[in-house]
Amino acid sequence: MPIEFKPLPYPPEAYEPHFDKQTMEIHHGKHYKTYVDTYNTLLTKVPALEGKPLHEVLEGNCAMVPDDSKTVARNHGGGAHNHALFWEILAPSAKGGGGEPVGNLKAAIDKTFGGFTAFKEKFETAAKTRFGSGWAWLIKKGDKVDVISTANQDSPLMEGAFPVIGLDVWEHAYYLKYQNKRPDYITAFWNLVNWQVAEDRFNRAK
Ligand code: MN
Repeated sequence: MPIEFKPLPYPPEAYEPHFDKQTMEIHHGKHYKTYVDTYNTLLTKVPALEGKPLHEVLEGNCAMVPDDSKTVARNHGGGAHNHALFWEILAPSAKGGGGEPVGNLKAAIDKTFGGFTAFKEKFETAAKTRFGSGWAWLIKKGDKVDVISTANQDSPLMEGAFPVIGLDVWEHAYYLKYQNKRPDYITAFWNLVNWQVAEDRFNRAK
């Protein structure tokens, strides 16, 4: 079924100074829109995808997609899904961004990593060491949480994991403000994570 082009929850300037207005406008209005539009165009050509929710297509590793359309489904379906999550978990500090994990997610992070600081280090390493384009993730798999990274627009759903939070480390996500300084962008990200949204996602993960 066609996927929705989700609006940014806050005005693009609301993420300043951590993520700049122009990057948010281009990232959401151009890059994300292309993923959504390209996937929706593919749907009109691939009957097997009709009526299938995007998350099911990704969970099934695009197995239902004909070979000549698999790459487009993976890149643009994954891109649409990953970015929708990204907009969902980001909030300006006045709207709940920043701070520390709460609730059941906090308990899981403390148990698995030994605390928020140790978790952040592991996540930042995943984000810094993803060569080229991709994402860093906090995932839930079964009863456990873990940190992983994926290449390109691959989704943790393709690995049987549920993405709780994700950080886009494509250059289009940070280059205007941070240029080659990906680590500074990663540090800035923590000021925008809405941990209540992350907690809600954690609690509804399968
Ligand atoms: Mn992106």
